[in-house]
Amino acid sequence: MQTFFAGDVGYDTEIAGFQTGVAHRPEMVVAASSADDVVEAVRTARARGSRIAVQATGHGARVPAVGMLVTTRRMSGVRIDPVARTARVEAGVRWSVVIEQAAAHGLAPLAGSSPGVGAVGYTLGGGVGLLGRTFGYAADHVRALDVVTADGNLRHVTATSHPDLFWALRGGGELLGIVTAMEIGLVPVPVVYGGGLHFDAVHAAEVLAAFRELTETAQETLTTSVGMVGLPPVDAVPESLRGRHVLHVRLASTVPLEPSLLARLRAIGPLVDRVGEVPAAEVGSIYGDPDFPHAYVGDNVLLGELPPELLDAVPVLAGPAAPVPCVVDIRHLGGAMARPPETPNAVPYREATHILRVLSPAADVDAARAVHHEVFAAATPYAVGRAATFGYGPVDDDPSLPALRDPATAARLAQVRKEVEAEDVFLSVADANICS
Ligand SMILES: Cc1cc2nc3c(=O)[nH]c(=O)nc-3n(C[C@H](O)[C@H](O)[C@H](O)COP(=O)(O)OP(=O)(O)OC[C@H]3O[C@@H](n4cnc5c(N)ncnc54)[C@H](O)[C@@H]3O)c2cc1C
Repeated sequence: MQTFFAGDVGYDTEIAGFQTGVAHRPEMVVAASSADDVVEAVRTARARGSRIAVQATGHGARVPAVGMLVTTRRMSGVRIDPVARTARVEAGVRWSVVIEQAAAHGLAPLAGSSPGVGAVGYTLGGGVGLLGRTFGYAADHVRALDVVTADGNLRHVTATSHPDLFWALRGGGELLGIVTAMEIGLVPVPVVYGGGLHFDAVHAAEVLAAFRELTETAQETLTTSVGMVGLPPVDAVPESLRGRHVLHVRLASTVPLEPSLLARLRAIGPLVDRVGEVPAAEVGSIYGDPDFPHAYVGDNVLLGELPPELLDAVPVLAGPAAPVPCVVDIRHLGGAMARPPETPNAVPYREATHILRVLSPAADVDAARAVHHEVFAAATPYAVGRAATFGYGPVDDDPSLPALRDPATAARLAQVRKEVEAEDVFLSVADANICS
């Protein structure tokens, strides 16, 4: 176990993460290499009276760590069982590693848009995946979790050993312990049929109408989304997209795509058309999410419907003419995500049909939030809730945003918290206001 204190060589590197808009400043950093290190870290923090935060990649950082930060990136083990179709994944593993190792066996995890995201943090938050409509949330595929709880003990948590904690950890999105490893189910998907089509924003109305139609008729084998973003005029961006505001329709299907579906989109005239067969190891290319650290702020609403009026409003509020640059992302939910898994978990709002997300660079958080709130206000009549996993940057405690959990889920999570985390040992999003 390596430890770092403020001023030590290596301290700044150890606390750095993908989200640069949240500055951790812990008194002590524990660079954990094993479950035993995590046990020792939790016991040390208890003895020092330090609140504990955990970081794998920093994609989801929201609250600056102040007492102890446990970093897990050295816990990098992955073990695939191709017969049982499972993977044991340690705390610091990014999806890219699981994707690659599973693909060697014709299997895939329920990973999301960005392979750089941490597998454990993503899964604990629910995990809205590329193939979510076909297979459900990532949290629905968790078989077991090894967790160091606030009392400093390592527990093997399953549906039978700790039913309430197992329920809460899978999709509850609360820090109730440090997961040192998880066992997850994999799905037999060697190739994904799909990719992305980019359109100039002048076609926004047509593209959004086609996307809406698509989501009205899509089979569960197809998971889609549409993004809207202004791309910089830099070499890293394909020439035909450089400096343009574009819409990006992403498709991920477990069966070949209907030709009529593609024809409908292609008739609009994409600038770039990258739809075909995507080997499982390359699914990160479907979204092409940014992979460099930066500062961003954003939130979301879960929708019960996607009416044309809302699709008319979004490009006006968060499109090319918005006062701050915005990245909009509308993902189609439903399908298997609407059904609880065999062993129910804490993923709330399964009735949501879509998620509407808005993000911006965190250059001016207040200005960005003002624009985002206008979008969310337009969505309020159709909102059923909000997903904790898609809240980015300093916590936004605006009471007009939809709740992160329905009352029944919130009450059960509070009960589990009382049982395992009564002394508030771990630093959570709820602490944002006292720590900032
Ligand atoms: C570019 C990008 C793309 C994304 N795409 C998707 C997507 O497609 N679908 C989706 O559902 N989400 C997506 N997310 C959200 C992502 O799932 C969350 O931000 C998630 O929390 C990131 O986990 P992490 O470990 O990488 O980040 P970190 O910032 O390291 O961790 C975030 C939080 O996860 C928890 N956590 C991490 N490790 C542990 C552990 N070992 N034990 C207990 N708690 C832990 C902690 O609460 C921690 O504060 C995306 C985020 C980004 C920035």
